[in-house]
Amino acid sequence: MSDIKKQYKHLLTQIRSAENAAKKPANSVTLLAVSKTRPVETLRLAAEAGQNCFGENYLQEALIKINALTDLNLEWHFIGPIQSNKTKDIATHFDWVHSVDRDKIIQRLASQRPAKLSPLNICIQVNIDNEPNKSGVDSQQIMTLAAQITQQERLCLRGLMIIPTAAASEMQQRSSFQQAHQLFTELAIRYDTVDTLSMGMSADMALAIAEGSTLVRIGTGLFGKRSG
Ligand SMILES: *Cc1c(COP(=O)(O)O)cnc(C)c1O
Repeated sequence: MSDIKKQYKHLLTQIRSAENAAKKPANSVTLLAVSKTRPVETLRLAAEAGQNCFGENYLQEALIKINALTDLNLEWHFIGPIQSNKTKDIATHFDWVHSVDRDKIIQRLASQRPAKLSPLNICIQVNIDNEPNKSGVDSQQIMTLAAQITQQERLCLRGLMIIPTAAASEMQQRSSFQQAHQLFTELAIRYDTVDTLSMGMSADMALAIAEGSTLVRIGTGLFGKRSG
């Protein structure tokens, strides 16, 4: 077995045990493999092991991989900061966008999503710890953006994405996760397409699942340390 296959099985076991500890149904948490900086061959090994959704941060790098792996029928999630001149390629080549945080991007993604594709799945990125210079909206802006997204036929509002501050203590992280889960619950009450709380990375995966994450974004915990 390749190292990737072994690590993939190990990671699934960890997710299943975190679900179990949180009294969540088995397989209720989605694993998004964050494949930024990883070569195409590595993604192929992960796909052979059974992984089918991949998250990318950098558009040019992602487009090369998407093109090289069309035979595999993978699901692609854009999770990086979005410049408005990149929206057309994102709307054309991705299935999900987790990092939507302003109206201009919503309008552009909606008008550029090809009619032959299903609506683009959208998560609103929330700057849960109110960090300066960090992407994401304040929690008070969520409902405004949600209303803008749900007016668009070519977009489907799925939920929220959060990245808590890296320096935080476990107690602070837990509190950020709890706040995010509360905001997610309020959004889900209002919109029945909302089913995704994109929360938790390699270092805080179990805590995020304990606090109600439905999708974890894992890079190093699957592929090992990034060199770049
Ligand atoms: C890189 C990245 C991840 C994965 O981080 P790891 O610590 O490698 O698991 C998750 N989410 C976002 C938005 C990222 O940019």
